[in-house]
Amino acid sequence: MRQAWTQEQRDDWFKNLKIKSHRDYTQTIAPRIEALKGRNGLEVKTYGSVTYAYNDDQGDVFERTHDLFVIRVGDFDSEKPTHVITGGTHGYEKGGVEAALSFAEKEALDYSGTHNILIYPCISPGPYEVEHRFTQGVIDPNRDAFLKGAKSPEMGAFVKSIQEQHQALFGDDSTRKFNRSADLHETPLLDKTVILEMMESLKGETFDIDEKFPEGMFLITSAESNLALVQNIVRRVQADGYPIVDDDKLYGEPNLKGVLLHQLEGTVEDFMSKFTVVSLTTEACGLHIHDEMPDDARAADQLSVIRALFSEPDVS
Ligand SMILES: [Zn+2]
Repeated sequence: MRQAWTQEQRDDWFKNLKIKSHRDYTQTIAPRIEALKGRNGLEVKTYGSVTYAYNDDQGDVFERTHDLFVIRVGDFDSEKPTHVITGGTHGYEKGGVEAALSFAEKEALDYSGTHNILIYPCISPGPYEVEHRFTQGVIDPNRDAFLKGAKSPEMGAFVKSIQEQHQALFGDDSTRKFNRSADLHETPLLDKTVILEMMESLKGETFDIDEKFPEGMFLITSAESNLALVQNIVRRVQADGYPIVDDDKLYGEPNLKGVLLHQLEGTVEDFMSKFTVVSLTTEACGLHIHDEMPDDARAADQLSVIRALFSEPDVS
């Protein structure tokens, strides 16, 4: 059994992580978003910024401040359906960031006449560039999505932005909701090593790593009323040629034809369910998912889910 971390260790931990050049947010992500500015039918907005402190090789602290971006597509007529796509809630899960950005760059405008679309390509820029799950203070952003009481600045800014976008579209009518949302996640190779060690250090307990590692895509939603539609989205992803996790259990609960019905407070899915008719989380799983994998291949099954959000009819 490991010793759980002290508060000081938790406070200092992030500083010692190293920015990976191929993930440098300033060099690789922000310019792609900035390049979308000025395109017809699409608007790039900054909804906040986060400052991250790092130690350099000499042990001196330096800071980086990253803008948080939302890409708005469509004319935001409140009679049209509104879909919300979020990537990089867990920064190390690159496939979701890549899929959200690629969708904004190449496909979103195809839907701009019929839909309003909000794309948050990378919710946690610091964890993205150091390839980690947690952000400063060892906070898991996907347990931190609360309107009141988010501890991380990334989540604080995101939940506020969603609230503002809802208000801008619907005014004070809280009975109206966005139509669909997808928070894009992975269960990558890294989950077998770094993340497990981290969980052990944090909690001072050992986790069983011998369980079968899931392979393929599955979706998580919290509302049973949405199960049939989310299962239809799974079928569409499968028809596109992407494997679906076929284990009997997903995180220890029944696998409902590729869907895990699960409600967990603090997740983006749970938060978005308050603003959205159908909210889901993607989980692209596999030991083959790591940064040596080409970006477009890594994003492909996530893009299939995004397209299905737009094409799959409601289930009455
Ligand atoms: Zn995740």
